[in-house]
Amino acid sequence: MENTDRSNHQLRRGLCYSNVEGKKARSPSVIVIGAGMAGIAAARALHYASFRVVLLESRDRIGGRVHTDYSFGFPVDLGASWLHGVSKENPLAPLISRLGLPLYRTSGDNSVLYDHDLESYALFDMDGNQVPQELVAKVGELFESILKETDKVRQEYSEDMSIRCAFSIVFERRPDLRLEGLAQKVLQWYLCRMEGWFAADADTISLKCWDQEELLPGGHGLMVRGYLPVINTLAKGLDIRLNHRVIKIVRRLHGVKVTVEDGTTFAADAAIIALPLGVLKSGTIKFEPKLPDWKESAIDDFGVGVENKIILHFDKVFWPNVEFLGVVADTTYECSYFLNLHKATGRSVLVYMPAGQLARDIEKMSDEAAANFAFMQLKKILPEASAPIQYLVSHWGTDINTLGSYTFDLVGKPHDLYERLRIPVDNLFFAGEATSSDYPGSVHGAYSSGLMAAEDCRMRVLERYGELDLFQPVMGEEGLSSVPLLISRM
Ligand SMILES: Cc1cc2nc3c(=O)[nH]c(=O)nc-3n(C[C@H](O)[C@H](O)[C@H](O)COP(=O)(O)OP(=O)(O)OC[C@H]3O[C@@H](n4cnc5c(N)ncnc54)[C@H](O)[C@@H]3O)c2cc1C
Repeated sequence: MENTDRSNHQLRRGLCYSNVEGKKARSPSVIVIGAGMAGIAAARALHYASFRVVLLESRDRIGGRVHTDYSFGFPVDLGASWLHGVSKENPLAPLISRLGLPLYRTSGDNSVLYDHDLESYALFDMDGNQVPQELVAKVGELFESILKETDKVRQEYSEDMSIRCAFSIVFERRPDLRLEGLAQKVLQWYLCRMEGWFAADADTISLKCWDQEELLPGGHGLMVRGYLPVINTLAKGLDIRLNHRVIKIVRRLHGVKVTVEDGTTFAADAAIIALPLGVLKSGTIKFEPKLPDWKESAIDDFGVGVENKIILHFDKVFWPNVEFLGVVADTTYECSYFLNLHKATGRSVLVYMPAGQLARDIEKMSDEAAANFAFMQLKKILPEASAPIQYLVSHWGTDINTLGSYTFDLVGKPHDLYERLRIPVDNLFFAGEATSSDYPGSVHGAYSSGLMAAEDCRMRVLERYGELDLFQPVMGEEGLSSVPLLISRM
């Protein structure tokens, strides 16, 4: 065997090829790779279905893109912070309500464009003058009219194009929709918010696909005490190995072997790969044999956007009592957005959230320079602002454990990439936000994808055992009704 002493030991005492011998004595085994929401959901489901599960995680913490930080003395989320779809239809709702975790609803709207209700905005120009609310509302309506017009463009053109390109076509056809002066800047700000949703610039977002994801009812709610309690609850009792960075995945007829950075190898009947798309794209994990071309091209063709958070903690609140503050400007790159956490949590915290190229550029700065940059944006609108007493800066674009914030549809790529990414390859199963065609880029999408991969894995492994009825379905208490039928066509 090619393993080190330690890995021989692991192989002996850990997960074994359970169909080779002692079939009656052993439960089937699975290795789950990545302890984000998807991996934890999958691991927990299979653990409850009597599988032997080991969960390998490269970081020294669980949660992945759910990352609640407590260094200010209270929780703040550097990754996900909203439950998109505050309703019983959301697969995470039963758990969140059972844990008694409060939500602060920032919007009752079920659209990707408005995760805040209009009345809670305060927009300013670069000179610190507040934009009249009527103008904000009027341009909002116009923005929707322009989007409706882009839908006509979509029907007419067989080729896909970017949202920005579609806007240009609309302006050529409908000069009455063109804006000037302050109104034009407000329009750029709306477009900037749309870019924030996709974590990508308007010239890369696909016109054909941008509105294809399913929005759950109930609007958007902030997790007031942070998202981590949800993760911690799901992870309880699981065998999670932190600081285990996977570098190689070998699949054979009767099982898989997964090797981590220090050379240790784990073996099992199957593996669930719940890694971020950015990590799969980077090619740092060797697959043996290599993944089929259709899977590799799905990985290549996806876009991964970048959105970051620069969290500024002040000694007191000096800003208006609104849910967020915005700076309007000539280009989306120059526009800004600050979430006011004081409304939701009572803490004197503003969260600056750049996306797309701006986020990538800011990631090249030191944390101090990034925090200063965010503070300078704030000073433009509130010249009397006092400096923050503490700050936190995320690096989702360059962190080797993520390499991007979340998936989006690039121009010209088919929407069925999500499905292609999800479909298993032999005894390798795939989970993660990028495998969720209905709810990509979300925590509940990652959760559902984990349950789905677990069910798929359970069925296939137990089919081989011929003992399907001996084991519980994987969804346990909470998920049964939320998992769609496993119907696919390739
Ligand atoms: C800034 C930001 C804001 C967001 N806001 C929201 C929001 O408000 N609401 C919402 O619903 N969603 C939001 N999202 C998206 C949401 O966080 C993700 O869709 C979701 O958490 C992804 O979960 P996952 O399990 O698919 O991936 P991840 O959480 O990324 O988990 C993958 C895990 O794999 C690990 N890993 C990586 N490489 C290796 C390796 N080689 N070996 C072993 N382990 C490895 C990682 O460390 C990580 O723990 C946001 C994301 C970001 C970045």
